[in-house]
Amino acid sequence: MRGSENVTDCLFCKIVSGEVPSNKVLETDDVLAFHDIRPQAPVHVLVIPKKHIPSAHHIEASDAAALLHIHEAAQKVAEELGIAENGYRLVTNIGFHGQQTVAHLHYHVLGGRQLQWPPG
Ligand code: IMP
Repeated sequence: MRGSENVTDCLFCKIVSGEVPSNKVLETDDVLAFHDIRPQAPVHVLVIPKKHIPSAHHIEASDAAALLHIHEAAQKVAEELGIAENGYRLVTNIGFHGQQTVAHLHYHVLGGRQLQWPPG
């Protein structure tokens, strides 16, 4: 599986470093959440580990704490942006067929409208 892109070429690593600007929602020692540049729902936030992990297919046991922190951040984002009560979607795309376009692990927090299932 693809995913071994050079970290120096990684868009989300550049967002973490501040080289590329982002509209931040929250930041911790190991996690960053920011608004998606092309929102697909009234609320569309991306939650990422600061560490470069190419996708969920590349997660290792040593990433366990960061994964918990990602889920805690997603919960906080949903609460603070007012979508927790009615529900929301937390989803990560993996690889080519999964329609992953940025090879740095990220979870989409989508909400604020009735979402459809199944996805296309
Ligand atoms: P993926 O298609 O699941 O890999 O999700 C990548 C997401 O990153 C897409 O929803 C894009 O709209 C979003 N995106 C791409 N570039 C930027 C950016 O510079 N800032 C914020 N979001 C971005």
